[in-house]
Amino acid sequence: MDSLLKTPKKPIYWIPKFLPMKKLALYWQILIAFGLAILFGIFLKSWVPYVSWMGDLFLKALKMIIIPLIFTSMVSGITQIGDAKNLGRLGIKTFAYFIGTTLLALFTGLVLVNMIKPGVGAELGFQQTPVGIASQNQTFGSILMEMVPENIVKAMVEGQMLPIIFFSLLLGFFITKTQKSHRSTLTGFFNALFEAVMKLTLFIIRFTPFGIFGIIAKTVSEQPDLVELATRLGLYMTVVILGLFIHAAIWLPLLIKFIGKANPFKHFRAMSEPLITAFSTSSSSATLPLTMYAVENKSGVSNTISSFTLPLGATINMNGTALYELIAALFIAQAYGIDLTFGQQMIVVLTGLLAAVGSAGIPMAGLVMMSIVLTSVGLPIEGIGLILAVDRFLDMFRTTVNVWGDTCGAVIIAKSEGEQLLV
Ligand code: ASP
Repeated sequence: MDSLLKTPKKPIYWIPKFLPMKKLALYWQILIAFGLAILFGIFLKSWVPYVSWMGDLFLKALKMIIIPLIFTSMVSGITQIGDAKNLGRLGIKTFAYFIGTTLLALFTGLVLVNMIKPGVGAELGFQQTPVGIASQNQTFGSILMEMVPENIVKAMVEGQMLPIIFFSLLLGFFITKTQKSHRSTLTGFFNALFEAVMKLTLFIIRFTPFGIFGIIAKTVSEQPDLVELATRLGLYMTVVILGLFIHAAIWLPLLIKFIGKANPFKHFRAMSEPLITAFSTSSSSATLPLTMYAVENKSGVSNTISSFTLPLGATINMNGTALYELIAALFIAQAYGIDLTFGQQMIVVLTGLLAAVGSAGIPMAGLVMMSIVLTSVGLPIEGIGLILAVDRFLDMFRTTVNVWGDTCGAVIIAKSEGEQLLV
């Protein structure tokens, strides 16, 4: 009893302090958790249910914070942009970056798949029936129509990102048009709320090593025999990963260096936490809280720019997914022995762009959108069965590139607006 009185216990609600979290940088903790989880998933498969709850809980906490974060951050960010001219300029730059880099990714994929021809003569001795993949009829027009929410609360309940972004943007903009006293009350209110939500986000981020441990242990234990799959789909997987690598490690850093005039290596280091999280969760949306935190606090981008570009980017800017859609579609065509003309390949590029815009930032969303790309040039939807087995694995890589592309955009746009960054 005496000793209990002498050593007062730390309050348990502030859990991060009881572990040596301060001593080791978070990204090291995450990397160690990642490595341990792989071993755990391989050697202690039957124990995985005892740890996978940590991953589920972490994902739930991230999802819990996404909508409050987008809403408060966007409203408070837009109120700082102020006038319509600045907003318009930022919007044009952001969309130009999204479309430009997505096309770059698509053409990288196009060149690789035509050069290496992974599907020609591929001995795909197996065929799975795709489950739950309905033909999608999402056109560009319908995506635009869905941007305007009929009911903002419903959009929030259903987690529809674009309508929430659209509403936040308008609300933020019109706050700046209210009379002075109201404007300062509302701006103060949203700034304060955003600060609180950011603090909560940081609190959740501290648990990332545990979350990643749970997620990766489960993912590893559920993987089909990758060695066996690699022998059959090896070349296809190699082309996808090579394309993603070229885009992420060559094109985007060059853009950061020469257009953004920033240091791509420093920025990459600053992004380690969101990138490992994107890889582990295969979800740009779930990673968004970490992405926003890192882009603002480690790369030094202002909240005004990051709150505008990152939520939009997590929803519509998917360089990795676009590249993947294109390679997968042309791989399927090659495997079926179908020769696509140049014109048809261009249609695949265009629909790949739309499919990437239309994909939600959740695991395997890109696979679902594949049906649009395939039907656009009359390829059999059953072809998805060929690539189904490795989709979840490749999703980890493409999601990482999706998130990396968003963060590079935030840096380039911030620099072009004359911001002083930390990278
Ligand atoms: N999982 C990806 C993402 O969240 C989307 C996809 O399936 O390609 O960015």
